Amino acid sequence: MLVVMRHGASEAEIRAVVEAIESLGYQARPMPGRQRTTVGVVGNDGRVDSSRISALAGVTEVIHVTQPYKQVSREWRAESTIVRLPGGLAVGGDDVVVMAGPCSVESEAQIIEAAVAVRDAGATVLRAGAYKPRSSPYSFQGMGRDGLALLARARAETGLLVVTEAMDPEGVDHVAEVADIIQIGARNMQNYSLLRKAGRCGKPVLLKRGLSATIQELLLSAEYLLAEGNNDVILCERGVRGFDPATRNLFDLSAVPVVHALSHLPIIADPSHGTGHREMVTPMARAAVAAGADGLLVEVHPNPERALSDGAQSLDPAQFRQLMREARPIAEAIGRRVAEPAGV
Ligand code: PEP
Ligand code: MN
Repeated sequence: MLVVMRHGASEAEIRAVVEAIESLGYQARPMPGRQRTTVGVVGNDGRVDSSRISALAGVTEVIHVTQPYKQVSREWRAESTIVRLPGGLAVGGDDVVVMAGPCSVESEAQIIEAAVAVRDAGATVLRAGAYKPRSSPYSFQGMGRDGLALLARARAETGLLVVTEAMDPEGVDHVAEVADIIQIGARNMQNYSLLRKAGRCGKPVLLKRGLSATIQELLLSAEYLLAEGNNDVILCERGVRGFDPATRNLFDLSAVPVVHALSHLPIIADPSHGTGHREMVTPMARAAVAAGADGLLVEVHPNPERALSDGAQSLDPAQFRQLMREARPIAEAIGRRVAEPAGV
């Protein structure tokens, strides 16, 4: 339930609403807005009897949130969330933020070379996993803490921000020491203890859609993060299981306008995992920008044939430069722009 206060409602009127909500045994979340303050009610399972609250001074309207998720819904917050990152980068505004890099950190030389290449092509965030959730226990599992240290070095060298995955609640703290954005991978989208921990870590979270998750399930997982007090959440469409082996996943770009309609959270798109094939990545990156994605997550490797994971879907640096050249005019055609590295 959402209590909408009158324009210019006094502090005392807002406080009276908060106290009335708390006296019913729920928590109140006052949210000052540009026009007026709204007070959200959390902690209720079913519909709240609003008769006492709607009669209070300064209340104009009481809205019952109809979706199973609340704090992520547009009903709860009409204005789009802009996730502000260090250095002035913002996800969810006019800018389309490109996050690029290898699937995994493999060595110092590899991650520095990849970081320099994506920075020079115009990416603003370096992606790479130090902890890798692999379908097979025999596949490369990532460099772990050594990989995190190399990501910190790559950031110092290039000025790029870093997005990297935390696989379990125990790992969140040391990933948070290095990452500017903590990634929660598709296989972990419904790992609720990980979500709760990431909701308390103080860093923005990139939450990827699960392999067979509905959009409603994705939003409910994001709700866990907001329920723990973390509002800096970026969603990511990375394809869902389809029946056709022609692509690795079915890249559901309709999720972009659906999420924008249902939620105030930004959503970026990952055409690398979405398609699984290098030659399909750039066309679908173009399509994602045209669909209104707030950013791209693209796998780029200095030498994709030698990649330890996801080489078949990784672009080489020249292919990535071309992707960036093609993405810019598409963003401009819809009134946006691809975010530039600081100082450009
Ligand atoms: C990744 O980004 O490399 C990754 C493991 O992605 P996903 O969780 O979407 O499979
Ligand atoms: Mn990958």
